[in-house]
Amino acid sequence: MIIAVDGPTASGKGTIAKALAEHYGLPHLDTGLLYRAVGYQCRRDGGEPQSLADALAACSFDDRLLEDPVLRSEEVGGLASQVSVHPAVRQALFERQRAFAMQDGGAVLDGRDIGTVIAPEAEAKLFITASVEARAQRRFLEMRQRGVPVSLAEIADDLRRRDERDRNRAVAPLVPAEEAHVIDTSNLGKDEAIAAAIAAVEHAIS
Ligand code: C5P
Repeated sequence: MIIAVDGPTASGKGTIAKALAEHYGLPHLDTGLLYRAVGYQCRRDGGEPQSLADALAACSFDDRLLEDPVLRSEEVGGLASQVSVHPAVRQALFERQRAFAMQDGGAVLDGRDIGTVIAPEAEAKLFITASVEARAQRRFLEMRQRGVPVSLAEIADDLRRRDERDRNRAVAPLVPAEEAHVIDTSNLGKDEAIAAAIAAVEHAIS
């Protein structure tokens, strides 16, 4: 079974995807990490994420980079969202995601275009969303725990900018697949959100 989990940043899709993978005993791929690796590599090489040539060159990043916690920062998230607008970058990352989705036994993938582009045949498609306020608040608490000094307003602005870029890009914009089950996690705790996701998958495959 392929489970596609899409949605904006800090919506809870990563947590939900991991929990679904565990529940169903499936391997999980966080596809945002691939775009983050490209964004980070591009900047490390002295390139500009808006430049197609620079972003494309960064697609041959070393896989060990995927383990590096530096990819989790807000700054790298911003770079990822800039390199991800280039269709050629998306194409360069396509095969790897597609192969993961198509492996024997199935998989859980989370991202922005899993149900629409990477695995349109997924048996279960979830679109996880939440208000900007709820997402900013979560990110804020997370970062404060890690000792990163940021303001709530700064985070909310950054989320809005990224949403805008992800929703309005010409290729693979962030939109729910037609058959996607939408889960708004604004007022749900972690366990409630996971329970709602499992119920949605059960419904989709029944
Ligand atoms: O999910 P995450 O915040 O790690 O993603 C970082 C950025 O990578 C997103 O803002 C988005 O622009 C891009 N991305 C994408 N398609 C995916 C996953 C991530 O365009 N499947």
